[in-house]
Amino acid sequence: MKSKKRRWPLLVGACLLAACAVVAIGKSPFGSFSSWKAVKDMPAAATPAPTPPPREALEFRMVDLDHGWVKYADGVAATEDGGGQWQPATGDAAAAETAVDSSIAELLSLEPVAEGGVGSSGSSPMPTVTLGAATFPVKQTQFLTPRIGWALPASSKDAKNPLLVTADGGQTWVDGMTPEVKEAILKEKSHLQQLAKERELYATKEAAKGIMSAKWKLVPESAAPGDAVLVRSAEPGTITWLNKTYTLQPYGAGYFTYLPISMSAKPGKYPIGDQTLTIVPKKFETQYLKVTSEMESMKQDTARIAADQKKIDLARSKSEPEFLFSGPFVKPIEGILTTPYGYTRYVNGKYDSAHMAVDLAAKEGTPIKATNDGVVALAESLYLTGNSIYLDHGMGLFSQYAHLSELRVKTGDRVKQGDIIGLVGTTGFSTGPHLHFTFWAHNVQVNPDLFWNTTPFRWVQPPAQPKG
Ligand SMILES: [Zn+2]
Repeated sequence: MKSKKRRWPLLVGACLLAACAVVAIGKSPFGSFSSWKAVKDMPAAATPAPTPPPREALEFRMVDLDHGWVKYADGVAATEDGGGQWQPATGDAAAAETAVDSSIAELLSLEPVAEGGVGSSGSSPMPTVTLGAATFPVKQTQFLTPRIGWALPASSKDAKNPLLVTADGGQTWVDGMTPEVKEAILKEKSHLQQLAKERELYATKEAAKGIMSAKWKLVPESAAPGDAVLVRSAEPGTITWLNKTYTLQPYGAGYFTYLPISMSAKPGKYPIGDQTLTIVPKKFETQYLKVTSEMESMKQDTARIAADQKKIDLARSKSEPEFLFSGPFVKPIEGILTTPYGYTRYVNGKYDSAHMAVDLAAKEGTPIKATNDGVVALAESLYLTGNSIYLDHGMGLFSQYAHLSELRVKTGDRVKQGDIIGLVGTTGFSTGPHLHFTFWAHNVQVNPDLFWNTTPFRWVQPPAQPKG
């Protein structure tokens, strides 16, 4: 590059004096195009091709990280490798764009492009770029991502290639592809694939764009005790809320955590990142249960209960560091809802607990479906909950199935949404055949009603709160 710079004044001088064939062929901004045209247009055994004069580019557009065009007074050149190689395009600039991967072009719009750098096109005074030791004006620049950009030199004499490329936001530019820039573009493409993977999880492209282009996003922004909120940040880090710290985990192009809203969370407004989480009040009903004295005495075997709790705690202490599902959660059985989530329970007249799950009554032996894809964190016979399954759905979210007559999976199995994992029963502390089902988000039981036929990525609107 340095040697080229030094040669320029000489070559330019020669060109000014006469149409200089040597200069034009060696240094045309079209490079390979000159020779390609010569081969294509000339019949066999023709006289040597006349040398085209240096062409001045009028404008350019990169449509994705590979494809773009440069317009000249007499035609269009196109690139398919980000500006390393240029070929004459048939037709006009619009025609050169038809070959482009529009999905990539669309994904690029999800990423906010850095302002500034070398300035936007058409600005006055003309921006300059630094190439090696030289600084010269450019007619136009374009950034497709905060890092990857192109610049059109004001004069074709300033560079060998039609466009200069940067992979560091315009701090350094190269004239043609270098291995470093190639690698940076590949890295950017894998980042775009992550954007695409994440975008699929949202309800619509518009919702995806709104969420993925924000610095912080709460999904939803308003919730009630017993709900959970999906928090997305553009950057890694932690959030601390109600004396608990949650680590944001990378997934797709963002960083996530579930934020469980415990039953004791007070209504109000709470800052999370640069957002505000609104907790609205919610009323839960009271339920009175009668059980036999024999059953009532079950709860007094605290040693067995504590031993089970150790196993459960261990199973829920590790979760896959990714979302293991993409489609919606489904109800594990079509049962009769006998106890909704959040009911305050009195057993034989004494306060027992809040029922932080749903009870779905169904015939003994009814097949139970996995609510979504996941890994079996625990499948075991436990004292109070009988035959029980915990499925890990990743990122600290578990579903729990209790009182089964039969387990059809074992700890460590991978399951898909809808797989039959067990059968309805009445094992453990249970008054009749039913499925006791709940979700745990970071070890807090959250309302299963939030999940039916949807996923946390689609919790854009707060769920409708039942009245009464
Ligand atoms: Zn229950």
